[in-house]
Amino acid sequence: MGFKLVVVVCLLGASACAVQRQPLLSAVEGSMAQGGIAYGKTTPEAEMAVRGGYKVHCPSGHFLIGLPSKAPQRLDMIVRGQAKKAKKRLNVRQRSYKTEYIDGLPGKKVLPDESLWPRIQSEREMIKTARAQTQGCGRIVEEPTFIYPVRGRISGEYGSGRVLNGVERSRHFAIDIAAPKGTKVLAPLSGRVVLAGHEFFYGGNMIMLDHGMELTSLYAHLDTMLVKEGDEVARGDVIGEVGSTGRSTGPHVHWGVYLGGVPLDPSLMLFQGEE
Ligand SMILES: [Zn+2]
Repeated sequence: MGFKLVVVVCLLGASACAVQRQPLLSAVEGSMAQGGIAYGKTTPEAEMAVRGGYKVHCPSGHFLIGLPSKAPQRLDMIVRGQAKKAKKRLNVRQRSYKTEYIDGLPGKKVLPDESLWPRIQSEREMIKTARAQTQGCGRIVEEPTFIYPVRGRISGEYGSGRVLNGVERSRHFAIDIAAPKGTKVLAPLSGRVVLAGHEFFYGGNMIMLDHGMELTSLYAHLDTMLVKEGDEVARGDVIGEVGSTGRSTGPHVHWGVYLGGVPLDPSLMLFQGEE
């Protein structure tokens, strides 16, 4: 029955035949762990529902699914095309996160003085505004994989809790890579510079790149910034130099990756061959 139907459709024209043969949902790839990202393709114009993850699904069929730090163990995807439906369950590796204790920070950087709150708030707004400037489906991310922006010791992990000078603070949803001041920082994936902010209270000099499909990445505490807002960068281009600006105890890069507003773990998105 099914075979006959395919033959009839194919007689109607080559394009109809191609549509018939294309699976509604191609293989889902990526890192299936809390903080990871899943990606793949559906047929164009298909619809997708995902529970427990943040999804960006473009009319071309390309999709990215961000798995939050607390994503459930089982994540169900339902894809609907013309008269077809596909289901897929992703098994998400559950993680436990560390707590780090950092002492010796200047007191005013841990619990900022009330007079600084408006400045901190306006810097948060600038970051949010930059993130909202994503090109969305106007720029397709075929493969959300990164090279390291800089090589060095990982001095801060994704999801770790921080107790600063004995005061519990929000979790660290990025990774820190320690490297000497002045080390070149590379764009780990092509993108457009949507923020090049000077001397932010927390992040110091920081750059945000928009890679498309709401995938953005952030580089903070830079000594110098060598790109400006609106610049296009290719993977491997130098964007700045390692520093210790903002709230920092030594030269390092704070590297954050977001899908929409969901912080993900860059160390789960490294290009094969990067260890
Ligand atoms: Zn950090």
